[in-house]
Amino acid sequence: MLSKTNFLRGLQCYKYLWTVVHEPKSIPPPDAVTQFTFDQGHEVGELAKKLFPMGIDIPTGDFSANIRLTRENMLAGRPLFEAGILAGSIFCRPDILNPIGDGEWDIIEVKSSTGVKDVNIWDVAFQRLCCESLGMKIRTCNVARINNQYVRQGEIDPQQLFIVEDITERVNEYSEGLSGRVDEIVDVMSRQRCPEVGIGPYCSDPYPCPLQPVCWGSLPEHSIFDLYYGGKKCFELFESGVTGIADIPADYELNGKQQIQVDCVSGGREYVDRQEIRSFLDSLRYPIYYLDFETFGSAVPLLDATRPYQSIPFQFSVHIVPDSRQEVAHFSYLADGTGDPRPALAARLREVLGDSGSIVAYSAIFEKNVLRDLAGALPEYQDWVDGLQDRMVDLLKPFSNFHYYHPEQKGSASLKNVMPALTGISYEGLAINDGRMAAAAYMSSTYGDVTEEDSKTIRQALEEYCGQDTGGMVEIINRLVAIAGQA
Ligand code: SF4
Repeated sequence: MLSKTNFLRGLQCYKYLWTVVHEPKSIPPPDAVTQFTFDQGHEVGELAKKLFPMGIDIPTGDFSANIRLTRENMLAGRPLFEAGILAGSIFCRPDILNPIGDGEWDIIEVKSSTGVKDVNIWDVAFQRLCCESLGMKIRTCNVARINNQYVRQGEIDPQQLFIVEDITERVNEYSEGLSGRVDEIVDVMSRQRCPEVGIGPYCSDPYPCPLQPVCWGSLPEHSIFDLYYGGKKCFELFESGVTGIADIPADYELNGKQQIQVDCVSGGREYVDRQEIRSFLDSLRYPIYYLDFETFGSAVPLLDATRPYQSIPFQFSVHIVPDSRQEVAHFSYLADGTGDPRPALAARLREVLGDSGSIVAYSAIFEKNVLRDLAGALPEYQDWVDGLQDRMVDLLKPFSNFHYYHPEQKGSASLKNVMPALTGISYEGLAINDGRMAAAAYMSSTYGDVTEEDSKTIRQALEEYCGQDTGGMVEIINRLVAIAGQA
């Protein structure tokens, strides 16, 4: 039997599908961030049911019972949630089937995204194929997606939170030849041997494939897929048999930054433009404040007067270097409780950031936007936030402009690559080691069902992670000072 989920896997990659079916144990379980995304999707699904107050929720725990109950309720003239549609060897469970009279139905697929992607069209096309194969008449196909302009005021209003978009025409387009495609995917599932599939752009599109560590594992350490903003060039080189950065033919056209990267890998050395680094360092004014925010955003806004996916800061870390003697002070804030974290965070940050001196952030556009949003939510901070803008310095610049490059950055100017390459401080071994993990951990410790002890552990990990981002920035500047001072 081909389920909708496996159909979509098959569209992405036959090898992935085959492995899921025949060797499910080799698929790693979803990580905390993926699980958090699933949980959000479930919450959104439950809210969408409120768009149809007369709907019947068909339990899904027992596969056969779900199909039987679907059959029994089909003539009730009421919307059905999670109806089990089994037509021969294909199966799906549309989020919402809405009867519109004369034996016709509308399909409504619920998504926690704010737009409709290609994969969503394939998804609904497959559902319609299942329904029509069972003899149902489908009038329209729709996606209920999140309205990112919705502003929460009190209880969530599902009518405002969702936009129901008619995608029937696109489904019509995608349905051409769909039956043949389904037959092919069913055939792949039944094969005894795993199909040979090479790596390709589909390994991360539409979703990151969990088998990437296996399929991509044989690439050399400095592989062409690390080429800075390599895009199509990476697969072009791969197709021509080149796998390592150092093996890129000399006459292959690269941009200036890519050429610096290739030269550094080939020569096993770093690249330094001392004049530009000195000029960057000269722009800094003591006391120097190193700032990093952690934020969360959820499909269903948790706070009044916020929109879906609005970034809400819940934590900051600030390292302060008062003068060139390099005595460092550290201040941090991590919200506690389910209330709005922003008023207390803003008040504490205003105390910490002082009236003068540079404020250094990595990819400072993010910190600037968080501050701008803070002022939007708390107008009493507007003048203060306006006054911070001229003090902001972006530590990303020397690296994104390739005024410094180290081969171990592996073609990335992100803090997570620059810090270990330049200072040796690593994120490996930290319980939380990126912003999405931090947000998921904060949400689970604040709104989830976790013990006091687990919550304490999570909060410690959050403090450690955010503190490393700013403490590491201090060390990066120290290294740049040393490098700039070298003859
Ligand atoms: S990593 Fe790529 S090639 Fe390997 S199974 Fe996944 S999608 Fe297919």
